[in-house]
Amino acid sequence: ARYSPSPADLPLVVTPDGKVLRNPRESELARAIGMVRAVPKDKVYDVVVVGSGPAGMSTAVYAASEGLAVAVCDTRAFGGQAGASARIENYLGFPTGISGHALMARAFNQAQKFGAEIMIPVEVKSLDCSRADGAFGLVLDNGEVVRARSVVVASGARYRRPEIESLADFEGRGVWYWASPIEARLCTEQEVVLVGGGNSAGQAAVFLSGHASRVQMVIRGGGLGASMSRYLIERIEASANIELIFNAEVTGLEGATEGALERVRWRSRLSPEESRFVASNLFLFVGADPATGWLEGCGVKVDRAGFVITGAPNGAASPASTLETSVPGVFAVGDVRSGSVKRVGGAIGEGAQVVAALHGYLNDSARPSL
Ligand SMILES: Cc1cc2nc3c(=O)[nH]c(=O)nc-3n(C[C@H](O)[C@H](O)[C@H](O)COP(=O)(O)OP(=O)(O)OC[C@H]3O[C@@H](n4cnc5c(N)ncnc54)[C@H](O)[C@@H]3O)c2cc1C
Repeated sequence: ARYSPSPADLPLVVTPDGKVLRNPRESELARAIGMVRAVPKDKVYDVVVVGSGPAGMSTAVYAASEGLAVAVCDTRAFGGQAGASARIENYLGFPTGISGHALMARAFNQAQKFGAEIMIPVEVKSLDCSRADGAFGLVLDNGEVVRARSVVVASGARYRRPEIESLADFEGRGVWYWASPIEARLCTEQEVVLVGGGNSAGQAAVFLSGHASRVQMVIRGGGLGASMSRYLIERIEASANIELIFNAEVTGLEGATEGALERVRWRSRLSPEESRFVASNLFLFVGADPATGWLEGCGVKVDRAGFVITGAPNGAASPASTLETSVPGVFAVGDVRSGSVKRVGGAIGEGAQVVAALHGYLNDSARPSL
């Protein structure tokens, strides 16, 4: 009552020092309550890692454990896409599987144990490669600049939002891009719709089938064999409450204005007529696009789909350079990299590999030129 907020001011936050924030961005709030500290003015990190998914966290663990001064920035939370996985069953050493969050929480602690500075939530808005003072400049969402002798791009990919009428109206109110135990609880004994035919869709379908009464899986293609691992196909086939609907697509969503999702419209790609599922939860697993917008303007080459191209210039291949981008000193690892395998194991391996390349680059750049 004292601060008389208008609806646009909500949430209104009063910080311990009495500062009033009206509808702050997450990063602004994080700074105000001390979760993220101000960037030290004169500090130049050996490496700044952008992204704290498996690739970024692995880079941080190996680089920090080998004595490099490392900072990691992530705009959302540690774990990246892997953090959204209900159960990772193909990562070496976990025969009964592990939730993505549990795996990545261990990595988060491990990186901090070795001294990596982790800034979450902080978005890197752009990369200044001019190196006017010898260092790269990473411009953050509040205008602060983090300086680094080298940069590792581990910004992965963002969930794709398919063309579905009224999609934006129901995001967070029945439309989900991941399936954690929280969403599973919302679906207890209900029918849900799940879109996608890849491994992440398969995993989510199997997980949700243990909670929902029925999972209706809408798949654009005519089969699963080309897009999904055999073990997941077998699990789906063995689940009595997963229904596969091939050659189909979701077209629109319906529900009360500012209310929950009530119906999902879909149609077979072989006929123009639409049908409706009565469902208040829709899960979308239709792939992801590379998060490379922040690299625009600094000369890092990307392929036609926007993934970062790596590899030694002029085709010369050496282990130290296969993860280097077209800008010397800027490296890319994990899903954001053109040609990467899009697996947790691959991302973690590249994080370990890039540290050898970083040592080579940092040693060479420290050597005075003749
Ligand atoms: C639901 C699901 C289930 C999966 N299950 C499996 C599985 O079982 N086995 C398997 O091997 N693989 C699985 N995968 C794939 C695997 O998770 C990815 O291959 C892996 O997470 C890629 O790691 P990454 O670190 O390269 O990128 P990401 O995991 O995408 O992480 C990138 C991070 O960068 C951050 N970021 C992006 N832009 C910026 C910016 N400008 N500033 C700051 N931060 C930024 C993001 O917030 C994000 O946290 C799954 C994926 C999903 C979505």
